[in-house]
Parts: sequence; structure tokens; C-alpha cells
Amino acid sequence: MSTQQPEETKPEEQLDSALVTARRQLERAATHVDVDDGVIERLKHPTRVEQVSVPLERDDGSVEVFTGYRAQHDDVRGPYKGGLRYHPEVNADECIGLSMWMTWKCAVMDLPFGGGKGGISIDPKSLSDDEKERLTRRFAEELRYVIGPTTDVPAPDMGTDAQTMAWFMDAYSMQQGETIPGVVTGKPPVIGGSYGRGEAPGRSTAIIAREAVDYYGEELSDTTVAVQGFGSVGANAARLLEEWGADVVAVSDVNGAIYDPDGLDIESIPTHEEEPEAVMQQDAPETLTNEEVLELDVDVLIPAAIGNVITADNADDIAADVVVEGANGPTTFAADTILEERGVPVVPDILANAGGVTVSYFEWLQDINRRKWSLEEVNAELEEKMLDAWDNVRTEVEDKDLSWRDAAYVVALSRIAEAKATRGLWP
Ligand code: GLU
Repeated sequence: MSTQQPEETKPEEQLDSALVTARRQLERAATHVDVDDGVIERLKHPTRVEQVSVPLERDDGSVEVFTGYRAQHDDVRGPYKGGLRYHPEVNADECIGLSMWMTWKCAVMDLPFGGGKGGISIDPKSLSDDEKERLTRRFAEELRYVIGPTTDVPAPDMGTDAQTMAWFMDAYSMQQGETIPGVVTGKPPVIGGSYGRGEAPGRSTAIIAREAVDYYGEELSDTTVAVQGFGSVGANAARLLEEWGADVVAVSDVNGAIYDPDGLDIESIPTHEEEPEAVMQQDAPETLTNEEVLELDVDVLIPAAIGNVITADNADDIAADVVVEGANGPTTFAADTILEERGVPVVPDILANAGGVTVSYFEWLQDINRRKWSLEEVNAELEEKMLDAWDNVRTEVEDKDLSWRDAAYVVALSRIAEAKATRGLWP
């Protein structure tokens, strides 16, 4: 038996659900903006949450039933919009919280959409391609009555991709008796998807990181960056920042991180989509854990993997000069407060990764108008949208001396509240 005393450890932060965090952020932001209490109260609740059972015939012939959700938070500015996530931790509260973030994200970007989010509580790694296709088609059928190109438009999220959206769009279209590409976004370009959509959340994260570096008086060519997560957001953000002159010194995937203080050769590392979990197979002077990557002394830290990774337990150890949120909800409410007290700016997810839903909007326009845009057109429009949103948020940061998150919420809430006041509450 060991006689060693257990090391003294700090009590771990109880992690809040996305819904609790989203409501607390809303309440806090509401103190900075002149919005009717009734509007804030309404925004704490989703319009509707659809829960469905999704039976799946496994490849061995057995049948399992999974639970799926679609949370529709608010549509005062336009159709509900947001991803479908396949992940074991999907539940109603998580979908509601994430749908609230989509409402703010669309409003910050001034897109004519509200917020939605859904998914299935399942580990996508446990599915064969055929099983994933059957599950997706059945999910589309179960959600058919609550979604549509003018009511609620899903998109990819964690555990889903362009192929998932293709099956979803096909199942919906077959049942409606006509091809309706605008029912989902993030599809492959050959069936109405937009060029540049896959790369867009990473591109917007990189654009916002670039603007943040410039805002704080640094040159991108003298900047070091650490990226947690090498999926679509992290890999594309890292590649672009490297292309624009930054030194990306660390990247990670689920297995851990590689680190080179002189800068990694990012272009040569396959993304998760190109070759899953390839990061640790690359040559690099050092390897780190996923936790260590967050604590590196770099200029810019981009958490781009999952939610709740910067918590009260490690917020004091974050050594980056600025955090740019690539993932949705990587910073807990408590960690946000600690970082603010420490003077570490956190540029929020609803601005930084909003390129995804922005190019979704471009895709939806292309589908409705039956006119494709070139990749150059998409990227130029995205750049313009991101810079507009950045300027609007920066103005609030400067005028009201707010954190970046509060400023982004103020921009979003003001637009939503004005729309609600103008339309009125009826009946
Ligand atoms: N799932 C993405 C997000 O969290 C994109 C949503 C969309 O394009 O509708 O922003």
C-alpha cells in the first residue's frame, strides 16, 4: 500500500451546461445595454425544442434507438439557423444553450437569421458510413415538420460534415417531391453547397486573430500562435495564419500536441478531415498534452476543439496575450471573469468563428437565387462581413470600455431587441 500523501489539489470547477453559461452571459450583457427586461426574459427561453427518437438499423441487423433534438431559440430576425451535432453529450440543454449562441452570432454578423441547434446523442466514431447515412436520413424525416428553407436551416457541426448535409438534403427533398438545396447549408458544392464553406470558420477565426494582433499593436510576422484542435476550424485558422506570416508554434488533436518554438510547418500536417488524428505522427522537437498547449506563453491562443476547456482551474495559467475562440464556448463563465481581471482579452466565438454561418448565409442565397458564386467572391464578401462585425464590436469595446464578449453581446442584443420592439409581442 502506498504511504504517499495525495497531492494537494484545487477543487475542480463544476462545469456549467451551455445553457447555464449562455443565460449568465446574457444577463451580464443585459446590464450594458438599454433593453426592455421583457425582451431579455424572452431571450432566456427557446421558442421550441423538438425531441425525436431516431431508430437505426445497425449493419448487423439489430435496431437501436437514439435521441435527437432541434432547439429553435429565436427567429425575430429570420429563419432559425445552426448546426446539427453528433456527439455523446448532446442533450436538450446543450442544444438550447448552443442555439442561443447562434442567435447572437447571426445578429453580430447582421445576418437575416435567428438561432437554432440540434443533434443526436451518439458517438459518431461508433458508426459505419452506411449507418451514419441511415441515421441521418431518418433524423431528417423526423425533423421534416419543423425545418425548411424559410423556417429552420441546419448545417454541419461537431461529428457531422458536408456528406451528412447531402444525405439530409436528399431525404428532405425526396419527401417534399422537389430538390430543395436551401434546406441545409454546408453541402458539397456539386449539390448547391458554397465554395469556401468548409474553410470559413477557420478563415474567420484567422481574420479576427489578425485584427486582434493589429489592434494590440503587434505585427503578425512577429506573432506566435498556439491552436488547440486540428479539425476544420483549427487547421484552417492555423494554415491561414502561417500563410499570413505568423509562427504557429503548437497544434493539437485528441491525442496531444506538437510544439516547435521556432514555428511548425503547418501546411504539411494533414487536417482531421484529410487524415484523422495525424498530428502526433508529425516530426517536432517537443510533444505536449492538450492541457499544456493552453498554457503556452504565446501571443495568440486559439482554442478550436471543444467547449469548456478554459476553466476556473487553468484560467490563472493561461499565458497568452490574447485568446481568440475558434470553438463554441471554450471558456467557462468563471474563467472569463478571471481572464478579464488578469487583463487577458478573450475575443468571443460568436464573432471569431462566425465565418461558418456567414458563408452558410451566402450558400443559402446562392441556393435561393440558383446562382453560384466563385471562391474569390465568397472570400471577398466574407472578409468584408468580418471586418464590419469587428469594427462594430471594437466600437463598443472602446466607447463603453467593455470586454470583447460583452461588446459582441451588446451589438447582437441591440439588433435583436430593436427587431422585437418593432414587430411587437403578439398575441
Ligand atoms: N455549426 C456552425 C456554428 O456553430 C455553423 C452553423 C451554420 O452554418 O448554420 O456556427
